[in-house]
Amino acid sequence: MLELLFLLLPVAMGYGWFMGRNSVKQNDHSAKQALSKKYSTGLNYLFSNQQDKAIDYLLEALKVEDDSVEAHFAMANLFRRRGELDRALKVHEHLVQQKHLPTKDKQQAVFELAKDFLSAGLFDRAEAMFQKLLKSKAYGLKSLTSLMQIYQSTKDWQQGITLKKAIIKTRDKKLLHSLANFYCELATLALEDDQFIEVLELLENALLQDPNSCRANWLMAQIYENHQQYTEACQCYRDIYQQDKDFFPDVIDKMRHCYSQLDADEEFYKFIRQVYDETASTSALICYLSYVESTHNLAKAKEFMLLSLKRRPTIRGFKHFVKMQMTESEQESTTENLDVIKQLISEYINVKPRYSCRTCGFNSGTHYWSCPSCHDWEKLKPVRGLEGE
Ligand SMILES: [Zn+2]
Repeated sequence: MLELLFLLLPVAMGYGWFMGRNSVKQNDHSAKQALSKKYSTGLNYLFSNQQDKAIDYLLEALKVEDDSVEAHFAMANLFRRRGELDRALKVHEHLVQQKHLPTKDKQQAVFELAKDFLSAGLFDRAEAMFQKLLKSKAYGLKSLTSLMQIYQSTKDWQQGITLKKAIIKTRDKKLLHSLANFYCELATLALEDDQFIEVLELLENALLQDPNSCRANWLMAQIYENHQQYTEACQCYRDIYQQDKDFFPDVIDKMRHCYSQLDADEEFYKFIRQVYDETASTSALICYLSYVESTHNLAKAKEFMLLSLKRRPTIRGFKHFVKMQMTESEQESTTENLDVIKQLISEYINVKPRYSCRTCGFNSGTHYWSCPSCHDWEKLKPVRGLEGE
């Protein structure tokens, strides 16, 4: 209540000034008195905590002139911040109806009204308002972003793609990234029906909008793999490494499978060794150790493991080290003890999240392409550090 009164002070001052100015120009005392009565009635309602009646009177009393527009916006935004959406809507609708306002203020009123509808979950009405502002210099980009958020919430991927031309024109990287993911969503649906050509076309479009979308390459690898085109699948996985080194640990097993189908294990492990040298990823290390063990021996693999753990200790790395000790141990009691330690570490790892969002820090044991918390695309990646990669 106090916050609202404090906010209305500039409105009252603006009103006083407006009335003062008009009194010089006009002699219409009866009109002035009527307005004044409405204004004081509005304030009375406000003081007696009848805010809805207060707003009606104040809106009627405060004719929206250039000077009081800002105060109207401030009042409406305050209502919205307090979660009183119906009141914010009323003020913004009142502003939208003012035909004499300059274009800048009119567009702001439409934009704010659209935001009210969005906050109230009235997506269709918000969408119609944002659509009106697509050509606006001041609100075009913001409206496009909001529209893409609406289509993401309603999973209306096709509708989002209709904004392609406008998005390309903005050259906004975040919007282009979003658009690429809309194509990926459609590709995922087509992939379920194994529509090879359609999936590839959609993914090519995705990469055209955002060449750094590792999701597009990840999906492309799936469809190539489904059709035994392993060379192409391997290329997609190598591209993912170039696009997003943090996400790469999640594709190592799939990549190994494709290389082995091509009888190109040597080439694969050479690549994985390079990945390990460049990123010190634990998944890459564990994968490479299996190669060392098979081409040399367990002792050599353990030696490599110890050096790696000293270089960069991780819980997952330590668990693998314990596993290697178990393989070598001849005494049954030692093996049992090591097994208890390994199980304890496994349980510890299982309760830790595998993924974290690089934008908002949201943690999850499951991977999502769109963060459930901040809704950013492709930001959930394997955790780094002692408890992760
Ligand atoms: Zn997030």
